[in-house]
Amino acid sequence: MMENLKKALTSIPELELRYDHGLKEYTTFKIGGKADIFAIPRSKNALVKLLQLLQDYRLPVFILGKGSNIIVGDKGYRGIVIYTGELKNVNIEGNIITAEAGITLAALANKALAAGLSGLEFASGIPGSLGGALYMNAGAYGSEMKDIVKGASLLDYFGNEYIYSKEELKLSYRHSILQEKPLIVLSVTMELKEGDKEEIKAKMLELNRRRKEKQPLEWPSAGSTFKRPEGHYVGPMIEELGLKGYRIGDAQISEKHAGFIINRGNATAADVIKLIKLVQDKVYEEKGIKLEPEPLFIGEF
Ligand SMILES: Cc1cc2nc3c(=O)[nH]c(=O)nc-3n(C[C@H](O)[C@H](O)[C@H](O)COP(=O)(O)OP(=O)(O)OC[C@H]3O[C@@H](n4cnc5c(N)ncnc54)[C@H](O)[C@@H]3O)c2cc1C
Repeated sequence: MMENLKKALTSIPELELRYDHGLKEYTTFKIGGKADIFAIPRSKNALVKLLQLLQDYRLPVFILGKGSNIIVGDKGYRGIVIYTGELKNVNIEGNIITAEAGITLAALANKALAAGLSGLEFASGIPGSLGGALYMNAGAYGSEMKDIVKGASLLDYFGNEYIYSKEELKLSYRHSILQEKPLIVLSVTMELKEGDKEEIKAKMLELNRRRKEKQPLEWPSAGSTFKRPEGHYVGPMIEELGLKGYRIGDAQISEKHAGFIINRGNATAADVIKLIKLVQDKVYEEKGIKLEPEPLFIGEF
């Protein structure tokens, strides 16, 4: 099967392929094993063709953005990982931006700045792609994707395209329809507000300064380890339990922000999972609160 599939895959134009490809470098945590197949579509057409072709094969498929909200298992991924990073066209008309899913939020925020459009400042320091940001309804500093999204163009795993309205996307705290239904983000349309370039830039710089001051950006991580339970802040809670700086292997609860687990160099997914479990157990024991991890676990552990 693999040989037939490999042959068929090479017939798709604008599709780059790698086999037995390490995923570590495609995650901000710098953790994880190899993917059997790693595919990089360079156009919408290549992605659609790829999905259509995969119908003939029973192969798990994972859509990868910037890998900033995932923990990849040490044994890697048995199946095909489709990396969206080369799908990054942007179109701006008036105050409406439509961008492909693979663009980074930083690049997108800079495009909005150049066009004098305000609304994406909050996202400029989030190290994800637009597709991942829609999937997670990413947010920061009191704003979230939900505030600016008008709709999105989505693909199902057969390669059919659908236009979803904002309401249909069901955006809520770190949630979207994409977590309920097997759909892939192709592009997102956002409505921004005309603004003053200097003010937009100043806001981006200020938010990123705050981020740098508070978050351990000097170490690899997957961002906040846990979702925020209603009425509580995770960082201070973990700190109160004396776990700040606690380390299992090279996975450590950040000394700068206890809500983050960082990779001190050679942490494995197994180390991180042990540390997550330890925090969950201790928080539940002491506070009766069930912490839920924010990053998603991908592949074999
Ligand atoms: C240092 C740091 C700071 C962070 N700060 C914040 C923050 O302030 N606010 C916040 O909300 N998050 C934050 N995050 C988490 C993360 O950046 C966001 O969740 C981001 O939106 C994830 O995007 P991604 O492209 O990296 O997604 P990935 O990690 O690649 O994937 C996450 C999920 O999205 C899915 N996905 C990705 N692209 C698509 C697509 N095109 N179609 C369908 N599904 C797709 C994947 O399949 C996966 O299930 C932070 C992370 C780090 C490392």
